[in-house]
This record gives sequence, C-alpha cells and structure tokens, in this order.
Amino acid sequence: MGARRVGIVGGGIVGVALAHRIAGMGRDAAVTVLEKEPALARHQTGRNSGVVHAGLYYAPGSLKARLCRRGVALLAEFCATHGLAYDECGKVVVALDQVELGRLQGIHERAVANGVPGVRMVGRDELRELEPHVRGIAALHSPHTAVVDFGEVTRRLAADAAAAGAEIRTGVAVRAISQNGTGVAVAAGGDRLAFDQLVICGGLHTDRLARLAGHEGDPRVVPFRGEYYELAPGRRNLVNGLVYPVPDPRYPFLGVHLTRRVDGGVLVGPNAVLALAREGYRWRDLRLGDLAETLAWPGFRRMAARHWRTGVREVVGSLSRRAFCDAARRYVPELEPADLLRARSGVRAQAVARDGSLVDDFRISRQGRVVAIRNAPSPAATSSMAIAEHIAAWLFEG
Ligand SMILES: Cc1cc2nc3c(=O)[nH]c(=O)nc-3n(C[C@H](O)[C@H](O)[C@H](O)COP(=O)(O)OP(=O)(O)OC[C@H]3O[C@@H](n4cnc5c(N)ncnc54)[C@H](O)[C@@H]3O)c2cc1C
Repeated sequence: MGARRVGIVGGGIVGVALAHRIAGMGRDAAVTVLEKEPALARHQTGRNSGVVHAGLYYAPGSLKARLCRRGVALLAEFCATHGLAYDECGKVVVALDQVELGRLQGIHERAVANGVPGVRMVGRDELRELEPHVRGIAALHSPHTAVVDFGEVTRRLAADAAAAGAEIRTGVAVRAISQNGTGVAVAAGGDRLAFDQLVICGGLHTDRLARLAGHEGDPRVVPFRGEYYELAPGRRNLVNGLVYPVPDPRYPFLGVHLTRRVDGGVLVGPNAVLALAREGYRWRDLRLGDLAETLAWPGFRRMAARHWRTGVREVVGSLSRRAFCDAARRYVPELEPADLLRARSGVRAQAVARDGSLVDDFRISRQGRVVAIRNAPSPAATSSMAIAEHIAAWLFEG
C-alpha cells in the first residue's frame, strides 16, 4: 500500500498547522494543502488582533477551553524555537460598574477552572499602576496573555511542513468534492486530485465546501466584519498591554478592545457588523449571491430578529469615528477621535445554526472520509496547533 494521501483545503493557520502536524508525525502520509489565494493567511489569519488568548472566557471542558490552553503551550514553544516574536504583554479585562464586576467575577472563576496561570482580580489602584490611562472600578489581570503575528507563524509552519515533505499549493481553488467508499475526488484549479482523506479548513467558505462533500447544511457561516482603527504613533503610550471590556454574555465577540501589536502599533477594535460579502472588508464590497444566501438562511433571520438593536448600534459605530471612539473612551478617557487612524479590517466566519443561535464552541464534523471544521472563530488562531493535534489523532487513530 502507498502512503496515505491527505488533502487539506485552506491555507489559513488551521489548515497549515494541520499539514505541519501530519508532516511531522513520521507517518507514511502525503499531505497537500490547497489554498485559493496566491499566498497563505490572506483572510482571517492575516487580519486579526494577534492575541494569544490565555483561555479566560470559555466554558470549562469545552473544546475552546481545552484546545486554547494546549494551543498556547504549543504556539509559545514554536515561536521560541523559531525566534518568532511572542510578547507576553498581559491583559486587563475592565469592569466599569457593579453589574460588570459581577460578570467579571464569573469570568475569573472560569479562568481558574481552565487553568489559566497568574490570573487575579485587581482593584482600581492596581489597575492604575498596570495601565495608568485606563479607568474602571476593578479588572481581571492575565499577565501571560501575549501577542504574535499569526500570518508570520503560518508562514513558518508552512516552511517547516514543506521541509518535512508536505506540498503547499497556492492559487488553487477547490470547486468540487465527491467521496465514495474508496476515496475523495477533488476538482481544484484545472486538476482532478485524489485523496484518501480530506480536511476542510476553509474559514469563510467552510460551510459551502462541507456541503459539496455531502455534510449537512446546518450551521451556515455568517460573515461579521470587524473594523479596526490604530492609535496615532504619538498616542501609543496610552496603553501598556491589552485592554478589554467585560464581554456581553449574549454574543461571541469580545467588544472593542485596545491591543498592542508585536510591531509596537496599537489596534482599537474590532466592532462587529454584517459583511455584505464573505470576504467583504469594506461596506462597498457587496456580492449579491453571498448576501442573498445569508438573508435566506432562517438562522440568520432568527438571529437578526433577536439582536437587531445591537446591530444598529454597531453600524453607527462603523459609520462614525466619533461613535467608535466613544466606545473605547469609556476605558481610556483621554482618547480623542483624532487619535484614531483607520486600519485594516477582518471578517469573522461565525457559524449560525438554523434556530438562530450563534455556535459558540469549535465544531468539527466528520462524514465518511471528509472532516470539516464548521466553526473555528477566535481563539482558533491561538488554538490552531492544538486543533491540528486533535484532528490528526482522529485521522490516524480513528
Ligand atoms: C477581526 C478578527 C479578530 C480576531 N482576533 C483573534 C485573536 O486575537 N486571537 C485568536 O486566536 N483568534 C482571533 N480571530 C480568529 C482567528 O483569526 C481565526 O479563528 C483563525 O484565523 C481561523 O483560521 P482558519 O485557517 O480556519 O481560517 P482562515 O484564516 O480564514 O483560512 C481559510 C482559508 O481557506 C481558503 N479557502 C476558502 N475557500 C477555499 C477554496 N474553495 N479552495 C481553496 N482555499 C479556500 C481561504 O482563502 C483562506 O485562506 C480573529 C478573527 C477576526 C476576523
């Protein structure tokens, strides 16, 4: 028997981490990554906040909680051995009032249950020592939360995977997938490829690809754009590390935060507005087919009926720099609209179920010879090497 042929659709950090894992396992396997863009990490992986989440928020025992903690360990080690920037600048989650403080104490308990090292509640004075320009009545401090450049990490993972024998092909869009008892046939670019197993890590297109392979249609990806500003260079001293609000428990998004980047810049954002195309990075990026598909999904309509007020508020913040600034100024009162410069946006692939619920945990499904990652929102970049380990175990150990 020849080597087992494993195909991976998607050259974001999850697909590439999986190729890296399989190639490094020393199994008799031939792994091929198929990425439609001319380069890796062009979508979510290259357009995020760059935060190595420590695992504060996730329900203990969930895939997110487990794979995030394991992912941090693997990622930190990978960055250390490859000389990649990994800056443990620390994070504060700031409560503005007593209601938020109650929620923050719940997050503290989760963080402890998830085994996050060093987390503790700090009062107003200690918050001021950590972050002199930030106001709040108390905060949760996570000293080991870090930042990296996930695009850079992806390229290093790919280089190592290629050196270990993986084939990484860019500029190759997968258009059709069919499977039977003996294999999986994939039409990609102008080629017809044959694999023994296929893993779909297609980010914003993952639901469409999964349906092509015979997986069920529920959940669907709804694209939520996250827009960022960055602090003008002279104002970067307003924060030392990462400053987050207490998240609204009804949403999977963490709220506009201030994030230090490995290059010294400071991002402010992201908000969350419906993107009018799967890869709709600006309001003018409209694809009628994508939008019609979103609007036709009963899950989207149910979600919109429940959350339209928040949606309206987010759109106002998107259209007005002053409104965006007001959200951040609640934490950093010295911030002025003139301090904010437009920065690049990202689009999140958020799975929404038919009943209108936003899928919270990572979701990975298997149907015959095809595994599909149906929901890999934040912290999937942090967790990518652990997600890879998890899937590789499925593929090779049954
Ligand atoms: C605004 C924003 C902020 C975030 N902040 C953080 C953070 O701070 N920390 C964190 O851990 N996570 C964060 N995330 C989440 C994180 O970026 C994603 O969870 C992670 O990048 C998902 O990786 P992926 O490989 O699954 O998807 P992607 O990076 O989107 O990669 C999917 C790839 O599949 C390719 N593809 C799609 N269809 C096809 C096809 N038909 N043929 C071939 N290729 C195809 C795409 O071109 C793409 O390159 C954030 C996300 C966003 C959008």
